[in-house]
Amino acid sequence: MNYDVVVVGAGPAGATAAKFLAEKGEKVLLIDKSSFPRDKPCGGGLSVRTLKRFNYISKDLIASYSFSGSIHSSSLKYQVQLHKDEPIAAFVLRKDFDDGLLQLAIEGGTTFMEGKTATDVSILPEKVKIKLNKGEYVESQLVIGADGIWSTIAKKSGLGHHYQPMGRCLFQEYPLASSLLDDYFTEKRIFHFHLKFMGIIGYGWVFPKKDSVNIGIGEIKPSASQPTNRPNLKEFYENYIRLLKESKIIPPTINLGKIQGGILPLTPLKKTFTDRVVLCGDAAGLMNPLTGDGIDYAMSSGKIAAEVCTEALEADDTSAFFLSKYQRLWKNDFGKEIKLCLRILKGLLERNSGEKYVRLLSRDTQIVDMVLTLLNNQGRLHEYQWKLVKRFVYIYCKDLLRL
Ligand SMILES: Cc1cc2nc3c(=O)[nH]c(=O)nc-3n(C[C@H](O)[C@H](O)[C@H](O)COP(=O)(O)OP(=O)(O)OC[C@H]3O[C@@H](n4cnc5c(N)ncnc54)[C@H](O)[C@@H]3O)c2cc1C
Repeated sequence: MNYDVVVVGAGPAGATAAKFLAEKGEKVLLIDKSSFPRDKPCGGGLSVRTLKRFNYISKDLIASYSFSGSIHSSSLKYQVQLHKDEPIAAFVLRKDFDDGLLQLAIEGGTTFMEGKTATDVSILPEKVKIKLNKGEYVESQLVIGADGIWSTIAKKSGLGHHYQPMGRCLFQEYPLASSLLDDYFTEKRIFHFHLKFMGIIGYGWVFPKKDSVNIGIGEIKPSASQPTNRPNLKEFYENYIRLLKESKIIPPTINLGKIQGGILPLTPLKKTFTDRVVLCGDAAGLMNPLTGDGIDYAMSSGKIAAEVCTEALEADDTSAFFLSKYQRLWKNDFGKEIKLCLRILKGLLERNSGEKYVRLLSRDTQIVDMVLTLLNNQGRLHEYQWKLVKRFVYIYCKDLLRL
């Protein structure tokens, strides 16, 4: 059977692309190598911005809303407190969340095939042919590669092989009785970030949900220049759990179980389109390099890909030249935010100044309010950049005078 578009990968990027394409009346096939509902290594943190942008995400797909959070400095001496009467973040279980997005795509008219792995793609003058495991083929006018960080579509279409630099994480989703969750995280479901915990270039997180708490630690993959005798990430994780217990952030009953791991792309591929192909989400390396959030860019890029593919089919032009509009549009939406976050990350890597930032931020309610506004609005970080920089320079100078 021939399709207008085959979407490979039914995560947030692929399910979103398929939903919008099907709703436009395109004949869409969505395939995934897994059977759904499937899990995906993730903290499950979502910004309120994402919920506002994709306001069709129903409350049933959200495991908890958080009204409060603490950002701790590396030494644990300073804390930035975030509070609001309305939610400032949401937490999801990926098994439920991704399945919910998939069901929306199917309701929109998408055909879904599970347990099918795309192994190759041939871009021909009149169509694109996707080879599946067991020797099957599907054909379409366009293919959207939304098949995650190890994307086969990116590799086979010549767009990318690997991503540098990478982030890596260890985490666990610990089941917890809701009474214990209320005791430790209150009904406000207070989340925690520990920046540069024990000096790692990254952070630890604690995300309380409905019946579980997700605890993880993530870092930029250590470079060759870092000492080889440093503890491995698993040891950092064990120390992190110890610290959380000592600080009474989590109950002492939590025990290390089966720790899971995952890799994050931190920089986008140079080119995310070619003849008859576009790449979305992790497959294109679209990730906030500072926070490790990828769901928002995955869904945003999926939506943009659907718009551009619909236009390409209407114009009967599936060339790379036409599809280059996709990259222009995602860059307009969040490309500047990625660039800015990469600059901040570089600053943190070079100056080791996380401690000082948290100390300064912890003393100024106005800048905290600005951050909360940013978290709650649909805008991107770079739109608030100068306002935040101005306020930061002010508190920095005030601090110098005080000293
Ligand atoms: C440990 C960890 C914690 C994270 N925490 C957060 C967080 O708190 N908040 C946040 O926003 N982001 C987080 N992320 C990032 C987030 O998980 C990803 O950015 C997001 O899942 C990207 O969505 P996607 O649709 O592009 O890819 P995925 O969600 O990876 O989906 C890709 C899909 O493609 C399928 N697939 C792969 N290859 C093939 C193939 N050849 N054929 C068919 N199907 C295929 C897979 O089965 C999968 O279902 C975290 C990542 C990790 C590793």
